[in-house]
Amino acid sequence: MAGEPQADCLFCKIVKGDVPATVVKETETTVAFRDINPQAPVHVLVIPKVHYPDAASLAAAEPAVAADVLREAGEVALQENGDSGFRIVFNTGAGAGQTVFHAHAHVLGGRGFNWPPG
Ligand code: C5P
Repeated sequence: MAGEPQADCLFCKIVKGDVPATVVKETETTVAFRDINPQAPVHVLVIPKVHYPDAASLAAAEPAVAADVLREAGEVALQENGDSGFRIVFNTGAGAGQTVFHAHAHVLGGRGFNWPPG
């Protein structure tokens, strides 16, 4: 069923507690944890507890949870990085660099960022 945990999904295993992660914030619908390969001084992933392969499919099926992910991204950025600016990235599809097919927001901060992104 849509949104159900997937046995072979790494982030579902983090939600369940079967794979360790450094959790910085958790709500009823989301988990935020430090990326194991940080690309900035602050690099936290915010994921929904429900399983959808990417942010677009999450937003289409469960817009309230997608809003929770966005809200938590902002709250985690404030918690980790104060008010000095941050970037939220949703890599969507392998062609855009997505490697884990469970929706997640990258929250990046603590350094400057280029535009256009690489
Ligand atoms: O957007 P993308 O799918 O490439 O991002 C997946 C992210 O998950 C990577 O930044 C990777 O470092 C992170 N990751 C993690 N913990 C794991 C496996 C991957 O933080 N156990």
